[in-house]
Amino acid sequence: MDLEPNNPPEPVERDIVTFGIAIAAIILLVGTAGAVVPKSLAVLFGNGEQPDPLLVNAMLLNIALIIFGWRRHRELTLEIAERRRAEEQARVLATTDPLTHCLNRCSMVDATNAVRAQAAIRGDTVAYCMIDLDNFKQINDMHGHACGDAVLVMLTERLHASLPRESRLARLGGDEFAFVTSYPLGQGERIDDLIIRLFEQIAMPFQLRERTIELTMSVGVASDHDADSGIGMVTDAAELMHRADIALYHAKKEGKNRFFWFENSMENEIRFRNQLETGIRRGLAQGEFVPYYEQQVDLESGTLVGFEMLARWRSPQLGLISPDIFVPIAEEIGLIAELSDQLIEQALSDAREWDDSLTLSINISPIQLRDPWFAQRLLKKLVAANFPPQRLEVEITESCLHENISLVRSIITSLRNQGVKISLDDFGIGYSSLEQLRDLPFDRIKIDRSFVSELREPGRRSNVVEAIIALARGLDLPLTAEGVEDEDILDALKSMGRLKAQGYFYGYPEDAEGVRARLRSAGKLNPLAPVISAQPDENQSMVRVARP
Ligand code: C2E
Ligand code: CA
Ligand code: CA
Repeated sequence: MDLEPNNPPEPVERDIVTFGIAIAAIILLVGTAGAVVPKSLAVLFGNGEQPDPLLVNAMLLNIALIIFGWRRHRELTLEIAERRRAEEQARVLATTDPLTHCLNRCSMVDATNAVRAQAAIRGDTVAYCMIDLDNFKQINDMHGHACGDAVLVMLTERLHASLPRESRLARLGGDEFAFVTSYPLGQGERIDDLIIRLFEQIAMPFQLRERTIELTMSVGVASDHDADSGIGMVTDAAELMHRADIALYHAKKEGKNRFFWFENSMENEIRFRNQLETGIRRGLAQGEFVPYYEQQVDLESGTLVGFEMLARWRSPQLGLISPDIFVPIAEEIGLIAELSDQLIEQALSDAREWDDSLTLSINISPIQLRDPWFAQRLLKKLVAANFPPQRLEVEITESCLHENISLVRSIITSLRNQGVKISLDDFGIGYSSLEQLRDLPFDRIKIDRSFVSELREPGRRSNVVEAIIALARGLDLPLTAEGVEDEDILDALKSMGRLKAQGYFYGYPEDAEGVRARLRSAGKLNPLAPVISAQPDENQSMVRVARP
């Protein structure tokens, strides 16, 4: 490989040659000047013969060479100083973060090792803390990256001001920071106090020119040595960082804005989560996700009016898994849309066999409503399954209203225009404003079961349920009460007006086969129900149907 252009060896070699020439020239000058100067002086005073012209020329040449050598020496000195400056600049760039000027991910490993070595000499130990700002992406999205950058710089200043002098702070990337600091063995509470001070610092609003920004953070801490908890000595900086990372993940999962020290059990938790993640990917490919159905009943007459589809994972390794476990993971790993598509297709095909009077409700994740084509894709499925849109209800939770509200509104409107109904699920726990309720065209509100369960004791009233019922009446919106578990709740609700209800009182969610058996005995299977073949038609993408 030719390194010539970037790394030329000549200056040093040239320096040696030039130095040699200059020395030789000086020696020769001494020799020639010894012969020429006295004679020249004698000529000047008029009592001597002319010096040899050859020697005079040689002396002049020596002087020229010395001047050349001296200039070259100066040039090289400047060149070397310039090069040192450039090298220093490159080193700084490679080891620090250009925005905040603290260390970067790469140099933090060496810094951590250095702090560990120094602490070991003193008999101290080391804490490595990972910091991740909560929801920082929203700040960038809402206020722009320049504003986000300004907050990061201010935050770095606050962290620097609060950390002990010998600790090292790094920005690991984006909104992730880390610091390493030493403390006396067995005095972890010092680190607790330090982190609490950092939380206090970050809780103070960040005052920018045009706006004020509020931040929270999550922190994971790992100690080099923690004999008390039975965690062995950490072998290297990479292991220490890995542990802090796991503790940080735990802090995020526990609701953010908090800190945790690493514990061994957290590692098992992560391993289990990774197992779930791989299981979900495989289960999706192998059709292990199935729809279950919960009855929805007219409270007054007790008539079955429809079913809510609830996802279940029939995992060959783990058994039947609830959506509370796999839906958040599928959302996080970007598989919720694919998962939901599979389930909706199965549910539409199941519900085609039910009596035409029965509705089907499906739950939609807020993440799915970020897709501008969501409504079109759902309507296409209805056409493909030949399912009347009037029989479909889409349940969205209040958290959807914190998303891009104009996109959510346009999706809701497109679906309603085709006859699909929209329910606001889990109402009461997601802080939706009255204005949003009035603005968005919902067809129904579902009262969250946490409020309904308050009616469990006989004669017990629930102010919240009564308030929600009054509110819905004011807005002229029908209501569904979830979580009707027993007769007491049922009686309490009956006295509150006309409602739809669902809950374990009417039965646990069942799979498609269970629902079919239930409907068959109630005479509510569609007599014209087609048997849907999974094979698409050769000529078009319509599903092939055959009359039984
Ligand atoms: P959700 O929409 O509020 O669904 C009702 C949940 O309450 C269901 O839990 C149901 O089994 C449970 N439940 C019903 N009746 C009673 C009762 O009387 N007492 C009690 N204690 N619980 C009752 P499940 O099936 O575990 O679903 C949990 C959540 O997962 C659902 O809450 C829904 O938000 C979500 N989910 C379910 N399926 C899907 C899906 O296909 N897509 C998405 N995005 N989310 C889903
Ligand atoms: Ca629901
Ligand atoms: Ca609910």
